[in-house]
Amino acid sequence: MYEYHYIYRIPSLPRSHFDFGSAVHKVIEVLTKESTKSGKPLTIKLAIDLLRREWDPKGFRSKLDEKRSFQEAEEILKVFIEEQNKMDSKILEIEKDFVLNISGINIKGRIDRIDIINNKDLLVFDYKTSKVASSENKLKEDMQLILYSLVIEQTYDKRPIEVGCWYLRKNKRVMIHVTEKEVIEVLEHMNSIVNQIKMGSFPPKPGWVCKNCDYSIICDFAKK
Ligand code: SF4
Repeated sequence: MYEYHYIYRIPSLPRSHFDFGSAVHKVIEVLTKESTKSGKPLTIKLAIDLLRREWDPKGFRSKLDEKRSFQEAEEILKVFIEEQNKMDSKILEIEKDFVLNISGINIKGRIDRIDIINNKDLLVFDYKTSKVASSENKLKEDMQLILYSLVIEQTYDKRPIEVGCWYLRKNKRVMIHVTEKEVIEVLEHMNSIVNQIKMGSFPPKPGWVCKNCDYSIICDFAKK
């Protein structure tokens, strides 16, 4: 997948859940930034106005499909606003860009949201619009979240008390505490990935993931 996408630069297919997720993400970003700046609670009216502005009909199979998705996005935003207005923590950063140097390679990323609680402890959230929420055990294998913990430690000189995913469709936050050992293991794994990229070594790993891979129609290794 990596080779097709980043080396041969074959574009991936547009799809509705991508556009859906992007629109909801963008609305939440703008909404929370506005609210943090003004100190006022979030409103559903502003959320719907923003959703209309951000909505991109490309990638939907039909008008009906698009209409259902829009209604679903409205519902997600309503629930998010109710939840946000009850939060104990305060937003510290939204869409925070970072660069992490691993084995001489700069890894760029963006953290959806960093909160502060009890005036000192940090929390990291990654918004998700997926239909299924992962378990805590599954998130413990998530390199991205563990790297976020490292980024926070390097930026604020302390590790977040929790990092996790905010599943917007389910209104569920699944949070984990990241240990030093987990950070070291992920760094070792990242180092080996970086070395493979440097060597131009991209062995195919066919499996269940092929079903959702945009390159399966051109890939000789795709698992049918
Ligand atoms: S079809 Fe499977 S093996 Fe081929 S690039 Fe996609 S994920 Fe990899």
